[in-house]
Amino acid sequence: MNDTKKVLLFYPPGALFQRGEDRCQQNIDDGSAQAMRACNDLGYAAAILLNKGYEVKLMDYQTEGKTYEDLIRDMDSFHPDMLMMSITNTTIFDDMKLINDLWEKYHPVVVLKGALFYDPEQAMLDMIDLAHADYLIGGEIDFCIGKIADYVFKGIGNPADINNILYKDENNRLVPTRFHVWDEDLDNQPFPARALMNNGLYIRPDTKEAMATIQTARGCPSACVFCLTPEISGKCVRFRSPENVLAEMTECYEVHHIRNFFFKADTFTIDPEWVKKMCELIIASPLHGKIQFTANSRVRPLKKETLELMKKAGCFLVAFGFESGSDEMLKTMKKGTTVAENKQAAKWCHEIGLPFWGYFVIGFPWETREHILQTKKLVMETNPDFIEVTIALPFYGTPMYETCRDNNLLEKSVLGSDFFHSSTVGTMHLTLDEVMKLRKNILLSFYLRPSYILKKMSECVTQPGVFVQYVKYGLKLIINLFKH
Ligand code: SF4
Repeated sequence: MNDTKKVLLFYPPGALFQRGEDRCQQNIDDGSAQAMRACNDLGYAAAILLNKGYEVKLMDYQTEGKTYEDLIRDMDSFHPDMLMMSITNTTIFDDMKLINDLWEKYHPVVVLKGALFYDPEQAMLDMIDLAHADYLIGGEIDFCIGKIADYVFKGIGNPADINNILYKDENNRLVPTRFHVWDEDLDNQPFPARALMNNGLYIRPDTKEAMATIQTARGCPSACVFCLTPEISGKCVRFRSPENVLAEMTECYEVHHIRNFFFKADTFTIDPEWVKKMCELIIASPLHGKIQFTANSRVRPLKKETLELMKKAGCFLVAFGFESGSDEMLKTMKKGTTVAENKQAAKWCHEIGLPFWGYFVIGFPWETREHILQTKKLVMETNPDFIEVTIALPFYGTPMYETCRDNNLLEKSVLGSDFFHSSTVGTMHLTLDEVMKLRKNILLSFYLRPSYILKKMSECVTQPGVFVQYVKYGLKLIINLFKH
């Protein structure tokens, strides 16, 4: 009899959420031109568990468009001893309902992973029915899951020694271990088990080609009051070596035939020397000219030479978190950047011919209508290729959550809300309805400009498929804006 223990790692059926992106957990269905990114958190967990000799099944039911019945069929045929599911702030109540259903039927060991469980307040945990959750992982899954499985199935180690988790004690109480400690050695982690991932599900939004997510670094030294990163990934940036990143890209290209990459780092360009080395390695490698990549960037620190080199290495799009067109707001939210730097980054991209996304956030607790109109002005002046405007979301664990709570701006629990379904009543000066109307105004004013539509049409003359994608995303955006 085969007594190898089995683990099912999964994203549940339902709406599309970036469950692997702990810092934003973005709702993809209600956003604009974005596609689901690869389930690297499951992929890393799978690689670790496979290396330890467990049998693993990895399923992204939400992105596959699969149903609860499909999940039940897999439970019946695979018979997992352990379930590991990624949860989000928005979906937590539905997630727990599903887990409790599965536990009633099958009694597996249950492991849940999500930023919500990073050093959580007891009052928040009390709002969630965690009766059947055995382990909660708040930190980086690849450094926890193997130790949890070894303890559960082989009796090796002690959960109290596994950092960044909560476990149930003999009285069935959830006990936190040590938080705010991070493992440094990223190069010795295995690559995500892409042989178990349906890589074709994760695409470039424009060309629909498969796009792999490659984590290049973790952590951010900035202190933006709305962002979970400094809390969950730390203020010290931990880099992989460029050689290690290139090895993963090469495996993706040669084994999985993936030519497009999202370099996932909280801020890809934070260390210009690292970026230079990475780009030079790509340029000198056989991959150069065959692959393309996209990455996030801050506008400080940033050099024009860095952007030029990125473009030369194959960067097809860079995404900036501009956030606001008001210096007063940038200062208050502790972004550590200025409006002039936002404009400078955009100007360099236009000069170089490097397409860019502009991310903007409105609805900060201190914002007035004038501040938001300054952001609208910046949107138009910077003229990115694509924009997203989200509503500031006070995640548990962020300084902005405390500001909202202390100023009675929280209408209800933060749980269940997202960037498009705010949990606040608005700002200290504007109602939520006024903020939502301003968001709609900015997005429509930007995307429905004839000059913008003509520019995008002219860029797609030789790529009708890309134009079809643009039209699809444009229609989705308009439908979303009018349905709320
Ligand atoms: S720059 Fe700010 S928003 Fe971006 S990852 Fe760092 S803390 Fe978060």
